[in-house]
Amino acid sequence: MNIIMLGAQGTGKGTVAGLISGEIGIPQISTGDIFRKNISEQTPLGIEADKYISKGNLVPDEITVPMVKDRLTWEDAKNGVILDGFPRTIEQAEKLDEILAEKGEKVDLVINLTTPKEEIIDRMLTRRVCTNQECKATYNIKLHPPVKEGICDKCGAPLKQRADDSDPEAIKRRLEIYEEKTSPLVQYYEKQGVLRTETVSLSINRMGKDVATDIVKEIRGK
Ligand code: AMP
Repeated sequence: MNIIMLGAQGTGKGTVAGLISGEIGIPQISTGDIFRKNISEQTPLGIEADKYISKGNLVPDEITVPMVKDRLTWEDAKNGVILDGFPRTIEQAEKLDEILAEKGEKVDLVINLTTPKEEIIDRMLTRRVCTNQECKATYNIKLHPPVKEGICDKCGAPLKQRADDSDPEAIKRRLEIYEEKTSPLVQYYEKQGVLRTETVSLSINRMGKDVATDIVKEIRGK
């Protein structure tokens, strides 16, 4: 089963993807995480990608698409994947359809998360991530703080704020790009009949874990 997470930054795509992945046993593939790992290891791909990421811009398709295509050939992806952060443009969505079609597969479900804008910005500013690239746990110092301040509950490594979460200009740019380039994917997948939109917001007391629980139940019930 191939699942795509859609939604602006800070809506909790990573959290929902991680929970579903753990429950149904298909890998969560986050392009942002792959880039951040490469940046921390200062690989050629990481050095190149950082030029775009630090400013809140998209990494060009010449880098991103082959990276995803390769990741989809790994053994753990043979029963499907949860893509988190890809596709982000119509062009990437079309490329993904081609890549999956070559394997006789398709996109089965698109989970589109929406959250009021004020909440999104607040969540990006209060998000903290584990510095251990093998762990990558995500916290929110208001909604889901670690037991010990600044330390990951799961692995004990220090937590930090993502560079692009601490720069208001980069946040603004990412949200603009989302509106302009990524939000048209909602219609794209609606037309394919695979879209499922879920609101995640404190105001209705529905968080990512609630969405993940419902979806896992439905997948298991099929
Ligand atoms: P994320 O962790 O999904 O918020 O991604 C962090 C950053 O990585 C984004 O702001 C982009 O600069 C870059 N990035 C992640 N996924 C993609 C993608 N599919 N296409 C282009 N750039 C991406």
